[in-house]
Amino acid sequence: MGTLPKEKKISMTWLLRYLKPVKGRLTILLIMLLVSTGLQLVSPQIIKRFIDTAASGGVLASLIQLAGLFLIVAVFNQLITVAVSYLGNDVSWRATNRLRGDLLKHCLRLDMRFHNLKTPGEMIERVDGDVTSISNFFSMFIVQVIGSFVLLAGILGFMFTVNLPIAIVMAVFTLVSILFMVFIRDLGVAPSKDEREASASLFGLIEERIAGIEDVQANGNVPYVMNRFYRMMRAVFLKGRKAWMFRVIPWNTTVILFALAVTAVLLLGVHYYLIGQISLGTLFLIYQYTQMLNDPIEMLGDQVQEFQKAKSGMLRSRELLSERSEIVNGEQNGLPDGALGLEFRDVNFSYNENKPVLRNINFTVHPGERLGIIGRTGSGKSSLSRVLLRLYNIDSGVIRVGGTDISTLNLPALYRRVGMVTQDVQLFDGSLRDNLTLFDTTVTDESILNTTEQLGLRRWIDAQPSGLDTHLTAGGNSLSAGEAQLFALTRVFLTEPSLVILDEPSSRLDAATESMLQIAVDQLMKECTGIIIAHRLATLEKVDKIMVLGDGEILEFGAREELAKRPNSHYARLLVTGREEELA
Ligand code: ATP
Ligand code: MG
Repeated sequence: MGTLPKEKKISMTWLLRYLKPVKGRLTILLIMLLVSTGLQLVSPQIIKRFIDTAASGGVLASLIQLAGLFLIVAVFNQLITVAVSYLGNDVSWRATNRLRGDLLKHCLRLDMRFHNLKTPGEMIERVDGDVTSISNFFSMFIVQVIGSFVLLAGILGFMFTVNLPIAIVMAVFTLVSILFMVFIRDLGVAPSKDEREASASLFGLIEERIAGIEDVQANGNVPYVMNRFYRMMRAVFLKGRKAWMFRVIPWNTTVILFALAVTAVLLLGVHYYLIGQISLGTLFLIYQYTQMLNDPIEMLGDQVQEFQKAKSGMLRSRELLSERSEIVNGEQNGLPDGALGLEFRDVNFSYNENKPVLRNINFTVHPGERLGIIGRTGSGKSSLSRVLLRLYNIDSGVIRVGGTDISTLNLPALYRRVGMVTQDVQLFDGSLRDNLTLFDTTVTDESILNTTEQLGLRRWIDAQPSGLDTHLTAGGNSLSAGEAQLFALTRVFLTEPSLVILDEPSSRLDAATESMLQIAVDQLMKECTGIIIAHRLATLEKVDKIMVLGDGEILEFGAREELAKRPNSHYARLLVTGREEELA
């Protein structure tokens, strides 16, 4: 990153995808702009007439008429300018919101390996910040560039009918300015892209530190965080300054060129006036038109800057959209009805190439059975559940759910039938209902209340000020860790899964709540196959099979009762001593 990808061109088809839905509005925008441009050209003509009429001692009535006309044109032009600005914003929001939507959808589907490397703050900048830099391009760029050219052509065209030498000076100035800007237009793209990247990292830093505010405060780490923040700010400033300098070169150059052109035109104009070739009104007109040249050229200069920003944003967005998820969706839809069996064959898995996390995993769980997994911290228990849900691809081997290799399965079909409660539960800003259904509006209140009743949570919901409508704050900070876990359980059981994985479902509950929940979970699990990962043996009293994982390998696998009877088994020793050292 930091450098431009090989493909520097933004393909037209890509742009058209976002511009097509707004093409009607764009056309209206363009027409209004042409009208406004025409009116701008007319105004100086009216003033010219006014001056010449006044200078030649014309009648007052026609002077008043000209003044009235000038006023009408000015007001009308202003109204159109307001409408153009409104419509421009409208077009820009419509087009860029579609792109924002595409980016977010794409990000949400990218694999965990990608997300592990990115902070949410950085992703926010990419989904929103980068797109904001494109928005001007979508709305005003095309319109203003065309409008500026039309205005320039109008001014120059008219000048050629008035005075050839002056028209030539103006045309040369215009041509040189535009050629210069076109020539250097890509100069600022790479620095602008670097600037956006630095800004994304900064957002990442802020987001991460604020998300971990409790740890940061509790450890007295605010000064260190600020130190990192200032350094990052400095990087953003330096990159921003560089990008800005590259962007303002065209603008500054045209300002100098313009000063030269105005001086030349005025000298020539005064000369022709003095020798009587042009009237005072025409001298004024020439002056006005020369001044007016500045606007479209400056506008083009601005647009070149905007274009550089937009192009860097587009390149970054395109880069993101071209990231492919390593998880390729399969074709198979059909899984057998009822509880689903599970099979791991020679499964190997690692997050990073050099460190295997799961090694030669082989086991089978029959439909309706319950498997308890135990193992030391870091032995690979959670990783096993992640590969089972295809959050990561395995390095080798096969995982079958309901007899089908999951890599050939359609992902929604897999997720519809398999549910997981993870070790650290996420709650979202929204009502209790939203958090239980994960924003699925098809789930009825009745089924929510039924499930919560079974899990013994109903009392807790009834005690809330507005029941299911009670608002949970962002991050679910208004719940205790144990309560959050209870909710996550409800959430999974509401989907009526056929295979469910509970990663330490009761680690944060007190003994009384745990045993109450245990009964409920047993009840709910009657309909499905269950995998329960646990450190506490009490949680595993009802399971059929036990797997002991150690350092990514299966140390032991078998029927729970058998293992309990075999005095030398890890499980039996753990039962006796209660010490997890027995598992190593
Ligand atoms: P615990 O009992 O603490 O929950 P666990 O058995 O669930 O432990 P895992 O989370 O599966 O352990 O982790 C297994 C190994 O994989 C650990 O060594 C861990 O450092 C590593 N690991 C886990 N997640 C990642 C990740 N996202 N990227 C790289 N390595 C990871
Ligand atoms: Mg774990």
